[in-house]
Amino acid sequence: MAEDALRGGIDLGGTKIQAIVADSNNQVLGQARRPTPQKGGPPDVVAAMVEALEEAAEAAGVAPDTLEGIGVGAPGGIDDDAGTLARAGNLPGWRDPYPLAHELGDRFGAVVRLGNDVSVATDAEFHLGAAREFSSLLGVFWGTGVGGGIVLDGRQWSGRGTAGEIGHIPVRHHGLPCPCGRHGCVEAYAGRRAMEARAREAVDDGAKTVLFKIMEEKGRDRLTSGIWERAIERGDELAEKLIDDAIDAIGTGVASACNVLDPEAIIIGGGLGVRFGEPYARRISDAMMPHLFHDDDPPVIRVAELGDLGGALGAALLVA
Ligand SMILES: [Zn+2]
Repeated sequence: MAEDALRGGIDLGGTKIQAIVADSNNQVLGQARRPTPQKGGPPDVVAAMVEALEEAAEAAGVAPDTLEGIGVGAPGGIDDDAGTLARAGNLPGWRDPYPLAHELGDRFGAVVRLGNDVSVATDAEFHLGAAREFSSLLGVFWGTGVGGGIVLDGRQWSGRGTAGEIGHIPVRHHGLPCPCGRHGCVEAYAGRRAMEARAREAVDDGAKTVLFKIMEEKGRDRLTSGIWERAIERGDELAEKLIDDAIDAIGTGVASACNVLDPEAIIIGGGLGVRFGEPYARRISDAMMPHLFHDDDPPVIRVAELGDLGGALGAALLVA
């Protein structure tokens, strides 16, 4: 690929599609964001991805067909060789393998590579962000769910393809049901979706909270990270209790992973992780301590630096 080659990166999430155009130094020249279609099927999602990337190219002042490569970070079952994405549970009607790379490649006349959304975001922090100076790290993405990425000795570790499921480390025996169908996982306490379900249950049981009032005021249909932050600022007790539980669960799960892997650094990303920032990263660090076997030398803990663009930048690295 030529030195001045432009690359596209798309972070395909369940609620939004973030697209960027980057140069060979990984500088973002243009970006655009679209809501992820909630109805229809893969062709509708692909159409929104195309629009987002075209808009990012326009913002960068380049024609979309000048992109030499396009990387996509996506949830679900990825077969990069076949260029297909399957079982993307958060995307409408996306079960069977769908030729995503082929469709995008045809539209833009570019090479398209697919990667796991959390893996590419971890890679971005490793190469360009908060973990630049480390050779081993654990990326913890605290958002709708809780995802994790692992870099060991400078290389992504994906195991047999599915490593890094930090959100599904059990932290409580016979604990709360997790969206994955198991019980007591980190995500059952810390995933935004699970936290919202807990808040709704508490309200049904008579608890008082401003969470859903703020949601209405903001015209949203779910408890976004911004709504959680606002409720905490207002001293909402239910929100504080659920966030305390979440931090406890993440700290316990991350400590377990550290006892096995002993990484140099923990990078906290994701919608909630980035929104809450340093003070909460420190709280997670404190919550880890009782469970760290070597507690005299804990890993460095940092907030992801690339914020909302990390996933798309990491995707663009797939075609670097
Ligand atoms: Zn689970």
